[in-house]
Amino acid sequence: MTERTYRTGIGHDTHRLARGGPLRLGGVTIPHDHHAVGHSDADALLHAVTDALLGAAALGDIGELFPDTDDDNRDRDSGEMLHLAAKQVQQQGWHIVNLDCIVFLERPKLSPHKQAIAERIAGLLGLQSSQVNVKAKTGEGLGSVGQSLAIQAQVIALLSRNTADNHVTGDVVIRAAT
Ligand code: MG
Repeated sequence: MTERTYRTGIGHDTHRLARGGPLRLGGVTIPHDHHAVGHSDADALLHAVTDALLGAAALGDIGELFPDTDDDNRDRDSGEMLHLAAKQVQQQGWHIVNLDCIVFLERPKLSPHKQAIAERIAGLLGLQSSQVNVKAKTGEGLGSVGQSLAIQAQVIALLSRNTADNHVTGDVVIRAAT
């Protein structure tokens, strides 16, 4: 039996909320009276997924791959950034085992949208939707989330690869891409 290596990664992101919808979250457009503000399309969940995958593969973070000082990244589709980051992760032999995601948002209720978000993230990564779990928490009226000033997301990812591929290092791919 082939020996496998496992790695976990964590991603976190915060975006300011401003008046006027809709809200872009997990690659899905959600009708809402606020939107997230950012240099790209400000999709906090996709940014946290991207960082969790890059972290697990020791490939740095989303800001290193897609700097907000680069005009090419303005209003950029976060799904495209996630796809490109996942490609680098997969080029090193990593397979995504699962993602567990938490969105911190006071409103709207995300229950009607969780399945669509899980399916969208799975689609971007070539996974089954059962490999992606999406949870939502409010801020109980407290802090920047509770007062609807911000949206946050936190994601943990588990990767696995054939141990024979462990000689492939993160440095090589990151430098080749820049
Ligand atoms: Mg972000």
